[in-house]
Amino acid sequence: MLKLFNSFSEEKEDFEPFDKPKVKIFICGPTLYDYTHLGHARIFLTYDLLCRVMASQNYKTDVLVNMTDINQSVFNKALDQQTDYYTLTRFYSDEFIKDLNLLNIHTITRLAHVSDYVPNIVKHISYLMKNDHAYSANGNIYFNTQKIKDYGKISKQSRDQLRLHRLDIGPNKKNPEDFMLWNCSEDFGFFWSGEFGNGVPWWHIQDTTVALENFGLHYDIHGGAKELAYPHHDAHLAQYKAMTGEESPVKRWMYIGLVFSKGEKMSKSLGNVVLARDLVNKYGQNLVRLYLFSTHYLDDVDYKEEDILDKKKFLEKIFYVKNKKSDHTSSNISSLMNNFFENLDDDLNSPKALEIFEKICDLTLKDESISKEDLDKIINILGITL
Ligand SMILES: [Zn+2]
Repeated sequence: MLKLFNSFSEEKEDFEPFDKPKVKIFICGPTLYDYTHLGHARIFLTYDLLCRVMASQNYKTDVLVNMTDINQSVFNKALDQQTDYYTLTRFYSDEFIKDLNLLNIHTITRLAHVSDYVPNIVKHISYLMKNDHAYSANGNIYFNTQKIKDYGKISKQSRDQLRLHRLDIGPNKKNPEDFMLWNCSEDFGFFWSGEFGNGVPWWHIQDTTVALENFGLHYDIHGGAKELAYPHHDAHLAQYKAMTGEESPVKRWMYIGLVFSKGEKMSKSLGNVVLARDLVNKYGQNLVRLYLFSTHYLDDVDYKEEDILDKKKFLEKIFYVKNKKSDHTSSNISSLMNNFFENLDDDLNSPKALEIFEKICDLTLKDESISKEDLDKIINILGITL
């Protein structure tokens, strides 16, 4: 039975989707103004591994990734490049898809551009306003967080703590913790129209609308980097509850640890960004997978090139085992294989599973044996291509 960490109870719990065997997964996707870096790649590779584990247990995963094309960073870059947001973001979404292919990720079933959903966002904001969950303040529309009794549950913050953040500042905002749904600023140079005025849909409502329109009342897993818990995911959950009336519309919030480089979070301004495509072109996607999966998904990774190189020996062993060809699996290896799968079932313990796989390789290169079929089971779950 697959167990996954539940960030609310802080315990590993049996995973039961709403509509077995279907598993609906939403992943907060890229903001479309740059290429995919290793931190992003880690998120999508982790969910790819999860989907492969689930597929081996006859679950049918349906993975939705929203791509943010309405965002201040996007607008700034479009202005810099003397182009419009649409041209810029379609370029980067094409590049994102190329990166997914380079990383051998084929488990994403739906990719959404937020701007395709603006009429739905407008409809949802109108609904929230009619139900007193949202209000207009000098043209901007805010979500009224007072209406949600356990607001802050995801980031585990009290009302007093929530009030300390300086969030989406604007005139006549009612509560400091209220967040923006619609930005009426004229600085963007373009706008959409709603019955509540002209403006641009703001960050959090974008995900809620994309998820609602694709998945309906509820879905199983919401994923992304752990830094998104507040305000993004607390806001998303509040909106989802207000829109659907469901108390727990999402089963699990599954966070992926960050990737640091030179001791700091990867970011363009620090100049420590490592692009996924550069690593794949240099080392191949197999090594990138072996490297990233050797840390548990909840833990942070501090990127060092030598740690990727360190995995070369392991990959060579896998190739040797592949070439050794046998038609049966010895009993010792069978029990290690069970162990391998049990560890993946245990909240995706990929570092332990990889340790066992390396042991399988070592023993097979001595006097044990593994059939082609069994070896394929392992390498398919890891997404390794030989
Ligand atoms: Zn998101």
